[in-house]
Amino acid sequence: MGGKVVVVGAGLGGLAAAVRLAVAGADVTLLEREDRPGGRAGRLERDGFAFDTGPSVLTMPALLDELYALAGERMADSLRLTRLDPAYRAVFADGSVLHVRGSVEAMAAEVRDVCGPAESQRFLRFAARLQALYEAEYDTFIDANFDSPLDLARPAAMARLVRLGAFRRMMPLVRSFLRDWRLVRLFTFQAMYAGMSPYEALGVYAVIAYMDAIAGVYFPAGGVHAVSRGLADLAGRVGVDLRLGTAVEAVETASARAVAVRTATGERFACDLVVLNPDLPVAYRDLLPAEATPWRVPRLRHSPSCVVVHLGLDRPLAGAAHHNIHFSHDYAASFDDILAGRLQRDASWFLTVPTVTDPSLAPPGGAVGFYLLPTPNLVGSALNWDAQGPREVAMAQRRLTDAGYGDVAAATVVAEVVTPADWARQGMAAGTPFAAAHTFTQTGPFRPANVAPKVGGVVFTGSGTTPGVGVPMVLVSGKLAAARALALLGREPAGAAR
Ligand SMILES: Cc1cc2nc3c(=O)[nH]c(=O)nc-3n(C[C@H](O)[C@H](O)[C@H](O)COP(=O)(O)OP(=O)(O)OC[C@H]3O[C@@H](n4cnc5c(N)ncnc54)[C@H](O)[C@@H]3O)c2cc1C
Repeated sequence: MGGKVVVVGAGLGGLAAAVRLAVAGADVTLLEREDRPGGRAGRLERDGFAFDTGPSVLTMPALLDELYALAGERMADSLRLTRLDPAYRAVFADGSVLHVRGSVEAMAAEVRDVCGPAESQRFLRFAARLQALYEAEYDTFIDANFDSPLDLARPAAMARLVRLGAFRRMMPLVRSFLRDWRLVRLFTFQAMYAGMSPYEALGVYAVIAYMDAIAGVYFPAGGVHAVSRGLADLAGRVGVDLRLGTAVEAVETASARAVAVRTATGERFACDLVVLNPDLPVAYRDLLPAEATPWRVPRLRHSPSCVVVHLGLDRPLAGAAHHNIHFSHDYAASFDDILAGRLQRDASWFLTVPTVTDPSLAPPGGAVGFYLLPTPNLVGSALNWDAQGPREVAMAQRRLTDAGYGDVAAATVVAEVVTPADWARQGMAAGTPFAAAHTFTQTGPFRPANVAPKVGGVVFTGSGTTPGVGVPMVLVSGKLAAARALALLGREPAGAAR
């Protein structure tokens, strides 16, 4: 079999897969619809302000390191990462503030100062448990290609996960260690990243809190989009033929296997194998023959969505840290509202101010504010988002001002809102950028497979397939997709890919 691969989409999943495939010796063409790489990890530029459009919390940079190392390079020569301390500034409805610090020791000191010495000891035991959970899960659940659910049934690994509480609900697991309600919130809200309420999510997802609040939050000079640009440049250096501004219209099949990719302008790229990075349900719907779609895909439960308001400001936001999380009074009600398809009545929200770390993202003296409000997705609600968008800008400005960041409406030079309707227009199923929820039946061996079952030579990468959503997971998905593709091509993975 040959080695001509077309990767569709230069999101972080597509870029990671393309780099790995090229390093392993495949002939790789990467076709990206937009004029820049990165997909959700994109960039918006307005009036001298540079906005990251998607991820702001960058964790697990070792996964990026691994990609550069495979190509015989050092990440540090391309990306300048700073570990943020505090990683988050958390503000609670009673006015109290906790900082998630940049190391376990510093965090234990913060907990001792704010919540007392006994809670600090409990925090240390909790941090050790999260680390153990992460280590037990990584090989079994995250960095693994599954051919069947039976692949999970390695008795020793499963027994260890059960012992560590991975299959208990997240909330009681966390509460069995921590007593201070503020810490409980700080170490459970990440369930939302996986598309669930912490009352519903399994303990396995406490590992997101590990990646987030224990293993460190990083920021690249130039913003998170620098990662996308860096990987696109790396792809070029290892021989990937990256074509921007090239929208793919269909995967051509013959005898139930992919043989070529056709673009919107009628160009045809013949190939032995195609790797698809667009959101998985949309890739099935728009690019593959209808009969290729597995029955489960249209029935997936999708994660909640979000509204983002990008604010370009002519002055700093008073007292802001790089990442700020504002918790509502009634924690459970926020999740209940979102999952019931309503706007949060008493909202929890995030504010990222990247100019705290890299002032060059705004004109001199200015600031960038990235406000994110968790919301229902389009399946779960009947909200008119195009009408709601402008209201969300005004609401964001008011919330920021009420939270003490200054007169935000007066400071606003640029305001851009992105709603679930916009995420849908960008090609994301159910109008959510957070993919299929990580319920038990949509995780690990049960997540939509990264090999199309009914059409040959089609592999998926990105947040809709294994292992899941978020920058670290999609980088791993690129590794798993490359391993699948190379196996189908009868080739060996390079370096650490398996
Ligand atoms: C607002 C927001 C906040 C987030 N916050 C975080 C965070 O703090 N931390 C974190 O880890 N993760 C975060 N995430 C999630 C993270 O960004 C995503 O999980 C990840 O970037 C998805 O990568 P991907 O490769 O799966 O898909 P994408 O980035 O969507 O890539 C798919 C690519 O395919 C291209 N494409 C689609 N259709 C076609 C076609 N027909 N032809 C050619 N190209 C096509 C698209 O243009 C795109 O470039 C956030 C996401 C958003 C949107």
